[in-house]
Amino acid sequence: MSTRGINLAGKRFGRLTAIERDGNIGTSAAWICKCDCGRTTKKAAGALRMGHVSSCGCLQKETRKFYATGFKRKRVSSAFDPCS
Ligand SMILES: [Zn+2]
Repeated sequence: MSTRGINLAGKRFGRLTAIERDGNIGTSAAWICKCDCGRTTKKAAGALRMGHVSSCGCLQKETRKFYATGFKRKRVSSAFDPCS
């Protein structure tokens, strides 16, 4: 193989498993990744290898929801219900 980029196929990064190379994002190689939640997403190889991304976005959503729930208790707001 004479690939210039690093082959990430089959490697795991958090919830993501790199499936195949798919062009570039900016100057970085882009990889199609399968997330544990079942979705596929395209991420820059650099971001994956640096640990900047570890899910398709579902992890951040869950984390945000977690913090939002904590906030809600303090702020006593009933206007927003993330579960509806
Ligand atoms: Zn996901």
